Amino acid sequence: MNGLKIVIIGAGIGGLTAGIALKQAGFEIEIYDRVKELRPVGAGISLWSNGVKVLNRLGLGEKMAKIGGIMDYMEYRNASGQLLSQIDLYPLISTVGQRPYPVARADLQSMLQTHLESYGVNIHLNHKCMGVEENEKDVTATFENGHQSTGDLIIAADGIHSILRTYVLGEEVSPKYGGYTNWNGLVPAHEDLAPKNSWVIYVGDHQRASLMPVARDRFYFFFDVPLPKGTAAEPENYQAQLKEHFAGWAKPVQNLIEQIDPYQVARPEIHDVGPLKSLVRGKVALIGDSGHATCPDLGQGGCQAMEDGVVLTHYLLTTNLGIEDALKRYEKERKERTGAVVQKARKRAEQIHGKDPTVTQRWYDQLAVEDPHEVREAIAKVILAGPMH
Ligand code: FAD
Repeated sequence: MNGLKIVIIGAGIGGLTAGIALKQAGFEIEIYDRVKELRPVGAGISLWSNGVKVLNRLGLGEKMAKIGGIMDYMEYRNASGQLLSQIDLYPLISTVGQRPYPVARADLQSMLQTHLESYGVNIHLNHKCMGVEENEKDVTATFENGHQSTGDLIIAADGIHSILRTYVLGEEVSPKYGGYTNWNGLVPAHEDLAPKNSWVIYVGDHQRASLMPVARDRFYFFFDVPLPKGTAAEPENYQAQLKEHFAGWAKPVQNLIEQIDPYQVARPEIHDVGPLKSLVRGKVALIGDSGHATCPDLGQGGCQAMEDGVVLTHYLLTTNLGIEDALKRYEKERKERTGAVVQKARKRAEQIHGKDPTVTQRWYDQLAVEDPHEVREAIAKVILAGPMH
C-alpha cells in the first residue's frame, strides 16, 4: 500500500520507533504529543536483545552501542550482600545474536527523536489528542487546541493511560496495580556500588535494589518495595524511607541510598494493562503501553513497543487488501505475543514481590542453586518468541 498518511499519537519509545520504521518504508507520517517538551519519565531502561535488534534493523545499531552500557554478567545477591549466582551473559548473547543494552532513557529518547527528525519529521508538541472519528475513507484525530489531523490510519502510542484505548475497546480498561513502588535514577558509576560490567540485583524481604551500567560511566539504579497503592512520599523523604525499607542491607545498597539525588529520582507505582481483547478497531491501532503496559519485571515493555512498530510496518508493506486487513494481521500477531509477555511479567512481579511469600522464598532458595544455563535459556526464550528471533 503506497502513499499512506499515518497519524501517530504519542512520541514515546513506541511512537518514535514506529515513526522511524514507517518513514523508512516510505509512508507519510505526522506525530503528535501532548507535552510541551519531550522528557522521558524514568531514568533508565534495559533494552533486551529483541529491542536492540529492532534498532539494528532501523539502522541505529551503532548509535545504540554508543549510548548502551556494557553488561557482561548478571549477579544476584541476598540482602546482606552474599553472592547467590553470577550469570555470564555471553552465552545468551551468542544464542540470541545481540547484546542487551541498559540505557539512560533521555539518551534513547534523544537518539530516536533526532533520527526521526533527520527525515524531516517534526513532532507536534503541545497537542493533546481528545478523540478520533473514522469513516469509510479515512480517520481523523481531534486535539484539545482545536487542531485536527486526518490520515489513512491512526497509531495510538499514547501510553498506559491511553484515551484511544477506550475508543478501540469500546469500554474503559484501567491499569492494574502491580503491587509495588519503584524508585529509579542515575548515579556516577563507582566500584563501591557494583562492578561496572555487571547488572547487580539484591533481593530480600520481597524487595529489590539493583544497579546496571549505562554510558558515560553511570549506573541506572532502582529500588522496588511492595507498598499499598497511593502511599504518599515526597522527594525530601525518599532517602529516609529507603533507609528504613533497606535497613541492614549490604554496604553497597547503603552507599547507593546515600549517593542518590532524590530530586532526580522517579517514583512510579507499577501498573500493567492487558491482555486486551483487541488492539485494533477499524483504522486505529494500539501500540506500546496503550495496548499492553507490562510490569518491568522482565524488562520487556519498551522492547514490545519497539517490536509493535516494525510488525505494523511489515503488514502495511507486505499486504494489499486494505488498511483494516493489515491492522487485523498486526493484531493477530501482536495480541498473542504481547499478551503472553504481560502475563509472564505479572507472574514474575508476584514472585519477586511476595504476593505469596512461600513462592518468593522458594525463588530466593532457588537462586542460590540455579544453573545459570537455565536462567539464560529462560531469558532467551522470551527474546526469541517475538519477531526478532
Ligand atoms: P510512553 O513512553 O508512555 O509514551 C506515551 C507518549 O504519549 C507520551 O510521550 C505522552 O506524553 C503521550 N501522550 C499520552 N496521551 C496523549 C494524548 N492524549 N495526546 C497526545 N499525546 C499523548 N521496558 C523495557 O523494555 N525494559 C525495561 O527495563 C523497562 N523498565 C521499566 C521500568 C519502569 C519503572 C517502568 C515504569 C517501565 C519500564 N519499562 C521497561 C516499560 C517501558 O518504559 C514502557 O513500556 C515504554 O516506555 C512504553 O512506551 P510507549 O511509547 O508505549 O509509552
